[in-house]
Amino acid sequence: MSLEGLKCLVIGAGIGGLAVARALALRGAEVTVLEQADAIREVGAGLQISPNGFAVLRALGLSDALRAVGVQAQAVSLRDYHKGEVTRLDLTRLDSRDYYFLHRADLIEVLAEGARAAGVRIRLLQKVARVEPGARPAVYLSNGAVLEADVVVGADGLHSKTRHALNGTVAPFFTRQVAWRAVIPNAEGRGPEARIHMGPMRHLVSYPMRGSKVLNVVAVQERAAWTAESWSQKDDPLSLRAAFGDFGPEAQDMLARVEEVYLWGLFRHPVAAKWHGGGVALLGDAAHPTLPFMAQGACMALEDAWALADSLAGAGDTEARLTRYQARRAERAKRVVDAASGNAWKYHLSLPPLRWAAHGLLRVGGRFAPDRMMRQFNWIYGHDETAV
Ligand SMILES: Cc1cc2nc3c(=O)[nH]c(=O)nc-3n(C[C@H](O)[C@H](O)[C@H](O)COP(=O)(O)OP(=O)(O)OC[C@H]3O[C@@H](n4cnc5c(N)ncnc54)[C@H](O)[C@@H]3O)c2cc1C
Repeated sequence: MSLEGLKCLVIGAGIGGLAVARALALRGAEVTVLEQADAIREVGAGLQISPNGFAVLRALGLSDALRAVGVQAQAVSLRDYHKGEVTRLDLTRLDSRDYYFLHRADLIEVLAEGARAAGVRIRLLQKVARVEPGARPAVYLSNGAVLEADVVVGADGLHSKTRHALNGTVAPFFTRQVAWRAVIPNAEGRGPEARIHMGPMRHLVSYPMRGSKVLNVVAVQERAAWTAESWSQKDDPLSLRAAFGDFGPEAQDMLARVEEVYLWGLFRHPVAAKWHGGGVALLGDAAHPTLPFMAQGACMALEDAWALADSLAGAGDTEARLTRYQARRAERAKRVVDAASGNAWKYHLSLPPLRWAAHGLLRVGGRFAPDRMMRQFNWIYGHDETAV
């Protein structure tokens, strides 16, 4: 069904917000995106778009634009922090080869261009203070303006005001893990693979992006102290180097190149109980923030975006359509969030006998059953939300 004449307000020009804006506009809706920032600028670092996320970009007509800015991934190399490669996950064995490493800012630009081209209006410096669900949902801006629409989409990320309007306040809890992220020159000319160096209570992920000119580096450490849940808190590169001082030469080479580094605390949030109500719907991190250990935050936001636009184009009144949207997405989102939460300990095994046993199993699996190793990811990467 066409969405001709449906007036939609989308809060947040992030990955989910821009994707749903284009998806709705392509179906005929009149869409305005409200973004608090003063520009759609370069923030964040690397992201991974796996085949399930790519399927949405393809359906939105953005596959060529994405391929132009992404590095096509070939493998994930799991490495002991000292002894080198334990096993290798061959991404070329997946049914789809469309797995990319890219900079968050480049994906945002592709989506923003795509949204504008479909007729979406993106309004910057529009900070939303409050959302009021109702027969005609309203958005209260911090500059005092009040806007109404037929449908309001809360794509306002981790600290979502929209989630609060539908679910009240639910406090997240600190996972006792912090993460640094940095971008460094790809001085050694690394090929299109992600490397995960695994050590006791820490791991280090790195992969090339931006024409393989730079490497995205994320370093995770278990620690008791609390760190703010923000993407923009700077730290001293020396504290990162000190935290990974006992890692082998390959890791040391990378860390020596870090000039600017950001640190954030990893928190767990429950998946929102209520994704919609009174003409308002949630998507992406606003509905189900996830830890980074499955690299699925952006892909889940893309899948939600498609499912929401598709559900709104279905039969019934707005609430019936939004109920179908939540039913279609909630279980999968929870499964991915739970899988990501369970992943860190596998990389961080501290007791040497346990680590040897686990690494031994990985080695054997990689050598004798590589297809079986990859099949365990089918439920994530093989999912196509645009074919549901
Ligand atoms: C600045 C930033 C940097 C990030 N960097 C990385 C990274 O390096 N690696 C990684 O894997 N993931 C990163 N993420 C997270 C990743 O992008 C998300 O998990 C994923 O894209 C989910 O997308 P989303 O659209 O739900 O939320 P987001 O991409 O977080 O977008 C939310 C948007 O809503 C806007 N917003 C929030 N509150 C309001 C308000 N009250 N009024 C108006 N606008 C509002 C925000 O400014 C933002 O543009 C980052 C997120 C942000 C915001």
